[in-house]
Amino acid sequence: MSDCIFCKIARGEIPCRKVYEDDEVLAFHDINPAAPVHFMLVPKQHLASLADADESHAALLAKMLLLAPKLAKEQGLSDGFRTVINTGRGGGQEVFHLHVHVIGGGNIPPMVKRD
Ligand code: AMP
Ligand code: ZN
Repeated sequence: MSDCIFCKIARGEIPCRKVYEDDEVLAFHDINPAAPVHFMLVPKQHLASLADADESHAALLAKMLLLAPKLAKEQGLSDGFRTVINTGRGGGQEVFHLHVHVIGGGNIPPMVKRD
């Protein structure tokens, strides 16, 4: 996807504060962090959302999830972290390239407010 912002970051066309990179996955700090530590794991391959994933993406998704705690620890989140995957407009997704948010280090409120 030539005009996808996370594809551009993955290709090095837009700068990012890199956390991790291999041949399939890139992790970088969120430009508008929701907590003291907030980075995202993205596949280098364009995949619009979790709803577009299928069996062929199983190993990639597993790799991203297994990297989350390792990278979180490296970023100092020894006490835990939140992972968030917003999916589709109904899930609040704004950038339509699959990403796993890893958030922590502050006062993390309950994820969903209830009355
Ligand atoms: P979502 O609502 O799950 O689609 O989240 C998109 C996230 O991407 C937001 O938290 C943005 O702050 C973040 N974001 C957008 N553009 C950039 C960028 N160029 N570099 C880093 N993070 C970005
Ligand atoms: Zn993309």
